[in-house]
Amino acid sequence: AVAAVLVGTLTACGQEARGGSRYKPDAGKGSTVGLAMPTKSSQRWITDGRNMAEQFEEAGYKTDLQYGDNKVENQVAQIENMITKGHQLLVIAAIDGSALNDVLDRAHDAGTRVIAYDRLIMGTPNIDGYVSFDNERVGALQAQYVVDALELENGAGRKGNLELFAGSPDDNNTRYFWSGAMDVLEPWFKKKQLTVRSGQTKMNQATTLRWDGGAAQKRMDDILSRHYGSSEIDAVLSPYDGMSIGVISALKGAGYGTKSRPYPVVTGQDAELASVKSIVAGGQTQTVFKDTRKLAEQAVQVGDALLNDKKPKYNNTKDYDNGEKVVPAILLDPVSVDKSNVELLVEEGFYKKGQIS
Ligand code: BGC
Repeated sequence: AVAAVLVGTLTACGQEARGGSRYKPDAGKGSTVGLAMPTKSSQRWITDGRNMAEQFEEAGYKTDLQYGDNKVENQVAQIENMITKGHQLLVIAAIDGSALNDVLDRAHDAGTRVIAYDRLIMGTPNIDGYVSFDNERVGALQAQYVVDALELENGAGRKGNLELFAGSPDDNNTRYFWSGAMDVLEPWFKKKQLTVRSGQTKMNQATTLRWDGGAAQKRMDDILSRHYGSSEIDAVLSPYDGMSIGVISALKGAGYGTKSRPYPVVTGQDAELASVKSIVAGGQTQTVFKDTRKLAEQAVQVGDALLNDKKPKYNNTKDYDNGEKVVPAILLDPVSVDKSNVELLVEEGFYKKGQIS
């Protein structure tokens, strides 16, 4: 660690660590990868952390996996600690994408490589690459699901009441999910085939801090009691399974979920087990499956290249500008899942048959 700190200091003074690279000279196989994940309160991040730890270890690295409990100060402290311990690569799924500038300045000075994982880190030049899914497509899949389920394309007579939820305002993905969805929904608002009775049609009226399911439930409760006295709700655009579960609880409390009054269409994301079970049981309608094992593979692909002074493979070098630079990215394809194709999750080995039915 002392040597690492020393190298960091030299690099900070403008000396090149190796062969023109600003990075630490002693990277490569055997070095330690710091994995900074946001929270264990959602199944997806537990799986992400576990997959990356396994896959980086298989590729010959040590790993240090930390969860920030959705508190920015925890995550910053964990990252600082990883830098101090001399980790050569950090893979970070940010809690607040704009809160890491200072700590990433330190990472840069210490010659540490940085990958933004799933969520882009904003406002800093000190990240090397980004691995994620096509986030606009996620929103588009959710919105198109609503349009199809309500059969809006069958003519002007097809109408529906929709309410909109957005993710955490400090997560850069939120605006991508939202804009992907709005591109699909806007024509139907214009044709008056979709109505948002609450009038809450702006993203900042619909955001949900830290993707909290309880907050989503509360907002849905309020909307139902204030705006749906005598009318029925037909669909809820929810960007994340944990929020969808909260939305469904509110709907249940308002009397939905019976034979004569079925649940409206409720979208989601991540194919978390609770939501997949709910889909099978006729609660939640849809989710977006993002194979986090493949995302972990890409983090290893990019990380392994960075640690060995090779060029990572990217498939998008234009769309993700973090305000300081366009960050080269790998974007994977998300897949819409509902009752009709839920078996896909078993076929892909994401769940075992007994788990979901
Ligand atoms: C991820 C989603 C996830 C959400 C809440 C987003 O950044 O892309 O997959 O549902 O965070 O954890």
